[in-house]
Amino acid sequence: MTRPLVVLGATGSIGRQTLDVAEHLDAEVAVLAARTPSPALIELGRRFSGARVVAAGGTASERDEMVAALGKRAVFGTDALLDSAQTPGTTVVNGIVGAAGLRASVACLLAGNRLALANKETLVVGGEVVLSARDRGGGEIVPVDSEHSALFQLIADAGPVERLVLTASGGPFRGKDRDFLEEVTPEQALAHPTWVMGDRITIDSATMANKGLEVIEAHFLFGLAYDRIDVVVHPQSTVHSLIVLGDGSYLAHLGATDMRIPIQYAITHPERAPTPVEPFSLLERNLGFEPVDNSTFRALDLAYEAGRQGGSAPAVFNAADEIAVEAFLQRRLGFLGISEIIERSLEAHQWSRPGTVEEVVAVDAEARALASSLLSGIC
Ligand code: MG
Repeated sequence: MTRPLVVLGATGSIGRQTLDVAEHLDAEVAVLAARTPSPALIELGRRFSGARVVAAGGTASERDEMVAALGKRAVFGTDALLDSAQTPGTTVVNGIVGAAGLRASVACLLAGNRLALANKETLVVGGEVVLSARDRGGGEIVPVDSEHSALFQLIADAGPVERLVLTASGGPFRGKDRDFLEEVTPEQALAHPTWVMGDRITIDSATMANKGLEVIEAHFLFGLAYDRIDVVVHPQSTVHSLIVLGDGSYLAHLGATDMRIPIQYAITHPERAPTPVEPFSLLERNLGFEPVDNSTFRALDLAYEAGRQGGSAPAVFNAADEIAVEAFLQRRLGFLGISEIIERSLEAHQWSRPGTVEEVVAVDAEARALASSLLSGIC
């Protein structure tokens, strides 16, 4: 029997796939939450007729429309969204995009709930603060990110681990050089070879910044030092990640490239249930592994550096990347400019060690302002 679900970011890619899983599992959906009211959110409210439907923002007319459609089930405001993450005895699937997911994660953990974490920025931006909220509130974190779900499952079965190996598809520009990357468009960068995901994470996969965020996420989730976390390019995305044990054995987690599997595992853990995913055929796979081209895709090294610096540095990496990706999607910045903005932001920022959510939020805001000003300097 799974716990009732609170789905944050319900209209996004993770949210929609979570709701498919919920229907398949016949799980109760207690709350559907999104940043703004929208026809899509209203539609989900109709589909899950027992759910409270929360929109953090929105104009007066957008809100009126939602109330007209859903009546008293429609609730508004950021506080209402944070309250929903504290609904007792629930699993909160956090599919909010970007650093905005941090407060909801902390609220969930302080209330002792399970956090099914798809918002990797929660740990990248607020790592120490988030782990302390978990320890104080008695909540638990079960990762949704496919690599971390794989590692979580492997570690649960294997005991002490020497190294973690995260796999990376290499994205659409694997094997390309910097001359090629100079000219690529958002459309080219959005065509991911193996995974279907939201816009920001797809661009982050093309630059390898996503893998950088995942290395930092893995550091906080599993408590291993950065020099014990490796990344290897594996274009088929069939092996979701690996662990290395004390005797040199490798354990790998394999399966279909479908986010509904790790989402469902975060909901049913420690149990497993059938998924609505097409059967996986091992015989159609040729598994290949190659090193990351760090001189072309510089964001990964920058993430390791930010992770080792700790404190505010990972939050600065993330904020600069969010700002730079947005500028790239709006054609105000070239593809290679993304890692340049990250690098310059890390160099220019005032390092600190945030100890509260408020301090983390302040670091994030300052880093965004810094990245924006650096951006206007180069484009
Ligand atoms: Mg991932």
